[in-house]
Amino acid sequence: MAEIAEQQVIDEVLAWFGDSWDPDHTLLQWRDRLVESGWAVPSWSTRWFGKDLPAWADRLAHSTIRKAGGIAVPLGGGFGLAAPTMYDHASDDLKHKYLRRTLTGELSWCQLFSEPGAGSDLAGLKTTAVRDGDQWIVNGQKVWNTSADHADMGILVARTDWDAVKHAGLSYFLIDMQQDGVEVRPIEQMNYRNSFNEVFMTDARVPHENMVGGQGEGWKVARGTLAHERSFSSMRSAPINPEASGRVITEARVEAAEYLRTYEWYPQRMGRVDLVTPQAVRRSRTEDQVLRQEMMKLISFQNASEWTSGRAQAARALGRPPGSEGSIGKLALSEVARQANHVHSRIAGADGMLTETEDPVDAVIAEVIVSTPAQSIAGGTDEIQHNIIGETMLGLPKEPAADRGMPFKEVGR
Ligand SMILES: Cc1cc2nc3c(=O)[nH]c(=O)nc-3n(C[C@H](O)[C@H](O)[C@H](O)COP(=O)(O)OP(=O)(O)OC[C@H]3O[C@@H](n4cnc5c(N)ncnc54)[C@H](O)[C@@H]3O)c2cc1C
Repeated sequence: MAEIAEQQVIDEVLAWFGDSWDPDHTLLQWRDRLVESGWAVPSWSTRWFGKDLPAWADRLAHSTIRKAGGIAVPLGGGFGLAAPTMYDHASDDLKHKYLRRTLTGELSWCQLFSEPGAGSDLAGLKTTAVRDGDQWIVNGQKVWNTSADHADMGILVARTDWDAVKHAGLSYFLIDMQQDGVEVRPIEQMNYRNSFNEVFMTDARVPHENMVGGQGEGWKVARGTLAHERSFSSMRSAPINPEASGRVITEARVEAAEYLRTYEWYPQRMGRVDLVTPQAVRRSRTEDQVLRQEMMKLISFQNASEWTSGRAQAARALGRPPGSEGSIGKLALSEVARQANHVHSRIAGADGMLTETEDPVDAVIAEVIVSTPAQSIAGGTDEIQHNIIGETMLGLPKEPAADRGMPFKEVGR
């Protein structure tokens, strides 16, 4: 990996951007140029669209491009989950087939992991793929699948061997969502959003070449995706410079609006700590001693959470694979969200129930209160993060499992 300083990355990105930016390009033409340059994912190898730079260079390159008035990589699960999983585990043929189009945003993705009976115990999933010549035929139901209603492709874990033990019978596929065998039904949430779906697969087809990793290696590959998901848990939307203009920018604004349709409530899910002090001032609650203590607790949690996330990024920059730091960071975000819910409820009182009000901030607070529970569930619940930390960092014995060593067909039905 090349030795490089942050300022050098900024200078090189700006020099490249100055030579390359053309606001009259289409968004796709621009992202093609970005991917070609290596600045879309500079931490990847030069063979696969990167520059062999440390992991921190990715975010720095993206923010430098944005600050200069340009557009960086697409937001969402394609760039955050599907692309790094393919980079780590897919065959060269699959990488050729999908990586570039994922980085340019031409292909959008959803994650087809959870099932009605398999969330925390993901390896207990029952959606089944059966080989038929050079294809796999998939039958089963997934649930809580964010963006499945408008995704082109899905990352899917399915059972390919019921005789194997639970974890060993799974395989990982890239499935075309736009086929007759895939039916997507949106779910209405308690914050009135529809970002999740149920997905029913009935004789859906996947070419054999779309298997990531080998047959029976689905659990290993899925754990890689989940580790990326934990370190990517913020899913922040990156603002487009309001003064920027041109065809690329117009198309990027349309893309961002589509993205926000799904993720607009995610800042509320994280607790909107930014609104706590202004709300306390606005409602003249700053002299309340107990509230002040709770606010300080929240702000301390948030600082600790940011430092934890910085530690995780530093570990990645040193070339360590995503690991338990991701679990600790995710737990810290849950703690922030829970405390923010508590503090906002205390400040707002009964007004925290107002969803339709003349004051738009009150509606945001109401949404915070019903959305923060999602923070400690998505991407693996808090209890599961505790188990991961206990087993992988503290060396505690594994949880007892009655099904260990048994063929899944004896436990799964
Ligand atoms: C905002 C959001 C977005 C999501 N997006 C997606 C998506 O795009 N794709 C997808 O596939 N899924 C998605 N999910 C689903 C998510 O991964 C699951 O909800 C999660 O893994 C928990 O599974 P579950 O809901 O089945 O709960 P369960 O596993 O049934 O858990 C219920 C309760 O039991 C506890 N529990 C379970 N097992 C243990 C144990 N061994 N030890 C201690 N406690 C335990 C849990 O912590 C929890 O409190 C999303 C969820 C949310 C909230």
